[in-house]
Amino acid sequence: MSKSLQAIRGMNDILPEQTPLWRYLEGTVARLLDNYGYKQIRMPIVEFTELFKRSIGEVTDIVEKEMYTFEDRNGDSLTLRPEGTAACVRAVLEHGITGGGQVQKLWYIGPMFRHERPQKGRYRQFHQIGLEVFNLDGPDIDAELIIMTWRLWGELGIRDAVKLELNSLGTSESRGRYREALVEYLSAHHDKLDEDSQRRLKTNPLRVLDTKNADTQAVLVDAPKMADYLDEESRAHFEGLKSRLDAVGIPYVLNPKLVRGLDYYSKTVFEWVTDKLGAQGTVCAGGRYDGLVEQMGGKPTTGVGFAMGIERLVLMLETLEQIPEEISRQVDVYLCAFGEEAELAGLALAERVRDQLPNLRLQLNAGAGSFKSQFKKADKSGALYALILGDDEMAQQVVGFKPLRGQGEQQSIAWDALAAHLATCVVQG
Ligand code: ATP
Ligand code: MG
Repeated sequence: MSKSLQAIRGMNDILPEQTPLWRYLEGTVARLLDNYGYKQIRMPIVEFTELFKRSIGEVTDIVEKEMYTFEDRNGDSLTLRPEGTAACVRAVLEHGITGGGQVQKLWYIGPMFRHERPQKGRYRQFHQIGLEVFNLDGPDIDAELIIMTWRLWGELGIRDAVKLELNSLGTSESRGRYREALVEYLSAHHDKLDEDSQRRLKTNPLRVLDTKNADTQAVLVDAPKMADYLDEESRAHFEGLKSRLDAVGIPYVLNPKLVRGLDYYSKTVFEWVTDKLGAQGTVCAGGRYDGLVEQMGGKPTTGVGFAMGIERLVLMLETLEQIPEEISRQVDVYLCAFGEEAELAGLALAERVRDQLPNLRLQLNAGAGSFKSQFKKADKSGALYALILGDDEMAQQVVGFKPLRGQGEQQSIAWDALAAHLATCVVQG
C-alpha cells in the first residue's frame, strides 16, 4: 500500500477482535468510578498550545519534544492534547465550578498524543483514563485514589503483577529548598553527570533523579534526600496517606527518586509499575498538584489525580491471560432461515423477540445459503443457540431451537413462546 494510505506511525487501529477487551476494560473502570462517586467530564482533543506550556512546564519532555503542535488557519498555535490534566483544569476554571471551593471529583477517557519513539506500550496516539479531584486537600482523598486503583487491579485479575511506588515531593517551598541542596551537590559532581543530566541540572534539576544513566545514578547515591527536606505539613500528610494504605492492607514501596515527568506535582506522587511489560512498566501514575490551578490563573484550589494507560493495561490483560471468556462471545442466538417466505417470517419474528428482550444478541443470517453453510456461519458466530426456520417449521408455525455448544436435542418452540423460552436459557448482560 502506498505510504499516504497507511496509518501514521505510532497511531493504531483497534481492530474488531480487540475492541471487546477494550470495552470490558473501559466498562469496568467506568462502573468502578461511578460507584465511588466520580463524574465524567469530556474535554476537546485540541487546545491552545499555551495551555500545555503553562501547565505542564516549558522544560519537560512533553513540551520540549513530544507535542503535536500546528497552526490553525487563523494563525493560532494549537496542540493535540498530550495529557488530560491541563484541559481539565482549564475546563473547571472556565466554567467556574471549583472557584468557590466546590469539591469536584472528575474523570475522563480518551486519546492523547505524544511524539515519542513508538515501541511496545509506547505509542504516539494512546489512550488514558484520567481522574482529577479539586478542593480536597487531605491525605484521605489521595488514599481513596490509590485504594480505588487497587480494587481495579483486583477486579481485572492483575493485582499480583503490579507494585505501588510512593513518594512525597513536599510543598513548593520545601521542594525549593531541596532543589537548592541538590543543585549544589550535583554541581560539585558536574563532570560525572551524563549530558542529559547536565542540561537538566540547569533546567529541571529534580528530573536528574529520574536518570537511567549508571554513572549519574552512582553520583546520586550520596545526594541529599528529599525526605530530609520535607516540611512538617507534607510529612504529616504523607504519614496520613501511608496509615490509610496500611489500614486497607495495600503494600507499597517508598521510592525517593520518584519525581514524575511533569512540573506541577507537590506532596504525594505515586506510580503503579509492573515488570510484565518490559521497559514500559508504568500502568498508572499520578499525584497531588496543589499549586497548579493558581498557576493557571485560578483561585487557590488543591488538586490530586492520576492517569492510566489503556494500551498498557490491555497488554497486561493479554500477557497475564486475564481475558474473561464471556467478552469474546458477541452473539447469543443465530437465526437461520431457508427460502424467502421463511426469511420474511424470521425477520418479523426476530423483531418481536427484540421487543421483548432488548438485550438479546440476536443475529440474523444474511445472504441466504444452504443448510450447511448457514449452520457453519451460526457456529462460527459463537452463538449459543441456532434458530431454524425451514418448510416444516413454517407449516407448523414453530421454530427449531438447537443448542450449539454442548449437549441438548433440537426442539420445536411455538413462535409466540420463543421470547419466553430464550429468556430462560440466555443470561443477558
Ligand atoms: P512514561 O514514563 O512511561 O513515559 P509518563 O510519565 O510520561 O510515562 P504520564 O504522563 O504520567 O506518563 O501518563 C500516565 C500513563 O499514561 C502512563 O503511566 C502510561 O501508562 C500511559 N502513557 C504515557 N505515555 C504513553 C505512551 N506514549 N503510550 C502509551 N501509554 C502511555
Ligand atoms: Mg513519558
